[in-house]
Amino acid sequence: MSKVFFIPIDSYDQTQEISQSAARLLGHLMAEGHIHPASYIPLKVHFGEKGNQTYITPENYTGIIQFLKEKGISSAYTDTNALYRGQRQNRTDHLKLAEEHGFTQLPLVIADGEYGEEYVERPFHGKYFQSCKIGKAFTELEQMIILSHFKGHMLAGFGGALKQLAMGCASRGGKLAQHSGTIPKVKARKCEACGDCAEKCPAGAIVLQPKAMILEDKCIGCASCIAVCKKGAISFSWQMSLGKEFRERLAEYAMAAQTGKTFMYLNFLINITRGCDCESRRMKPIVPNIGLLGSMDPVAVDTASLDLVQKAKGKKVFQRGKNALKYAEKIGMGTMHYELVELSPTP
Ligand code: SF4
Ligand code: SF4
Repeated sequence: MSKVFFIPIDSYDQTQEISQSAARLLGHLMAEGHIHPASYIPLKVHFGEKGNQTYITPENYTGIIQFLKEKGISSAYTDTNALYRGQRQNRTDHLKLAEEHGFTQLPLVIADGEYGEEYVERPFHGKYFQSCKIGKAFTELEQMIILSHFKGHMLAGFGGALKQLAMGCASRGGKLAQHSGTIPKVKARKCEACGDCAEKCPAGAIVLQPKAMILEDKCIGCASCIAVCKKGAISFSWQMSLGKEFRERLAEYAMAAQTGKTFMYLNFLINITRGCDCESRRMKPIVPNIGLLGSMDPVAVDTASLDLVQKAKGKKVFQRGKNALKYAEKIGMGTMHYELVELSPTP
């Protein structure tokens, strides 16, 4: 059984209370886990897609930043590039959006490079993967604080700690492998034969004939070309993302991202929407705010989050996500059995 610490908070306007509670939870996790902090511990966040209004804003992380500073620990905000088109699909636009969304208190690190080309193949012995493409910057660190906004997600069921690890730590190619398992395709009618994709492809897998064509035997599935093509001529199939298998693939990637690392997980049960922060639209919360949860076990913290949301809603929601939790437990990533320990917001 894993411990999950909980600080109830019922208003999103209480930014200072949220910020202080997050720092208190983090301090508690470090003390309980006897963690000797590394000199550098980045904050894994989601900067919120352009137009999204319900992502967790940086003011809520001020307490954590102050906590780390007082301990002499350096930090950064970090994330990887998104697979689909939007303002987070390459490092340049992603950094610009992060600054527009106010993430200016710390340096910003996009862990998989400009187009997703900076990654490490981490060996993994799973049902679906023998290796996983993890953003290079993540493979080089010992510790990280995974800050997850708990809310719904169209394909995963919900987005919490597991999804932050799986999609959030994977390079663009790693995201492609989880979603599709196939290489990208060129839509000839949209291709203007500019050659940008061929020039940037790290595997020399694109030739112009005269339109772009991907050589299947050379492609390494890094997904950089999807971001490079400004005409939207390169895409992939979402077909595999619809079934239970996708959520099991997601759990394997989550495990690969955290293996050998000391990660601390904080879930924000605030502004709990049906859709994800990746969605560029205004959304309404489906339940009142609940609070913050912290654990060293990503499976336990997501299970407890799901249970609390369902209790608040008075019925089952985000049920698809249970596939990932059950599979993550089966492969030894953590446990769905937890003890909920309530803390007060102040010591
Ligand atoms: S970058 Fe896009 S438009 Fe240019 S050659 Fe490649 S597929 Fe065609
Ligand atoms: S063709 Fe394959 S190897 Fe080349 S950029 Fe696209 S996904 Fe990466």
